[in-house]
Parts: sequence; structure tokens; C-alpha cells
Amino acid sequence: MDMEGRLAAIRSRIEAACRRSGRQPEEVTVIAVTKYTSLETAEAVLAAGLTDIGENRWQDVKPKWEAIGDRAVWHFIGSLQTNKVKDVIGKFAYIHSLDRLSLAEELNRKAGALGLEPVKCFIQLNVSGEDTKHGLAPEGLEEFARQLAELPYIRVVGLMTMAPLTGGPDSARPVFRRLRELREQLNEQQIYPYAVTELSMGMSGDFEAAVEEGATYIRLGTVLVGSQS
Ligand SMILES: *Cc1c(COP(=O)(O)O)cnc(C)c1O
Repeated sequence: MDMEGRLAAIRSRIEAACRRSGRQPEEVTVIAVTKYTSLETAEAVLAAGLTDIGENRWQDVKPKWEAIGDRAVWHFIGSLQTNKVKDVIGKFAYIHSLDRLSLAEELNRKAGALGLEPVKCFIQLNVSGEDTKHGLAPEGLEEFARQLAELPYIRVVGLMTMAPLTGGPDSARPVFRRLRELREQLNEQQIYPYAVTELSMGMSGDFEAAVEEGATYIRLGTVLVGSQS
């Protein structure tokens, strides 16, 4: 199947998941995760009509970013070392992996120094508790959220998580539900003068469960770009 065909199949699965949960497909943005793939694949994704691209390492994305630039909305989805902030700042519209204060402070400092808009960030949470996962423990969310409120160049747009790698959609669903509840709690605490609206959750193996549980961004690699390079 070509890119258009795969995307059409994904769209119809998203629509079905939306019907089952009383949501609208427009509420769900597909991020094409093109890590490990070529510039050609990223171009094919855009030609098929997607606008959002997810990458997790600056070294790998650099040639794609230089060729594509603002024809795409760029999402940084990998763990971000503080000393790599200088490479991604101003280039990625969204950082999905904000999980510690030192990283937030560096993003805040660089964005301020460059006179950029506040950096749109997802707080990455380790909901499943697997110790291999990056992300903050949910118990630490409120304190971290309050610390971020002190940083004028950080804008918390949402929460992000990864489901357990094994166990499929059934073990993923409670993790997604919990992330939605954590977003609700965060909004009830009124830490920010704005609502935190987004949920970045769901990958190739579990995106329908994520959509049913309220995902607004799903991050799709394999199911979309297959084993193409
Ligand atoms: C690689 C990756 C994805 C995409 O994974 P697939 O299972 O191939 O869809 C999504 N999110 C993150 C954080 C990733 O690193």
C-alpha cells in the first residue's frame, strides 16, 4: 500500500474510534513520526496531506528540517538533553518530552534570549510506572506544573505519555484514561491563566484506544511509514 492508502486506512480507523466515543475526527491531529526514515518519506507524508512531523533526534532530523522547514509543523518527541536545546529551539513548534525543571529552565532561558514566543510544551508523564520510561511520576505533576508557571517562556499545552510497550491496547487504555484525568486535575488546580487542552498519546499499536480516551495528538510511525527508509 502507498502512503495515501495507509493514511486513508488510518483516517477511517480514527473516524470509527471517534464514533464509538462521541468525538469529532477534527479533534485528533496525526503526527507522522518519520524518525529512522528518509527525507523522501517525510516529503511523501506531506504530499499525502499531513502537516505535522515528529522526530526524536536533532542529528537525524537536521537534513529533513533544512529541506522542509516551515512546510511542516515540527514536534520533538524524544527525550531532550539540556545541551541540545540550542539545536531545537525555534525550530520545533512543540516539545513533547518536558519532564524536568533543568530542561524547562534552559528552554525558558534560550527562548527569552532569542526573543521567541513561549515554547509550547507537553509535560511527559510516566503513568505506567515502568522504570524504562522517561517522564515524570504523576505524583510530581502539581509541583512541577507550579514551577513551570514561574517560567514566562514555557507554555504548557498538554500532557504526554507512552503506554507500556507490551500488552497492547488493553493495557494501554487505563494509562490513557489516567492521563486525561491528570489533565482535568491540572485544570482544576488553575495553576495557569489558560486551560491545558492537549493530550499527546497513542502510537501505531494503540492509537484507537487513545482516541477513544481523548487523545488530541497521536504519534504514528510504523503504521504510517511502514518499514520504508
Ligand atoms: C517512535 C515513537 C513513536 C511512534 O511509534 P510507532 O509505534 O512506530 O507508531 C511515537 N512516540 C514516540 C515518543 C516515539 O519515540
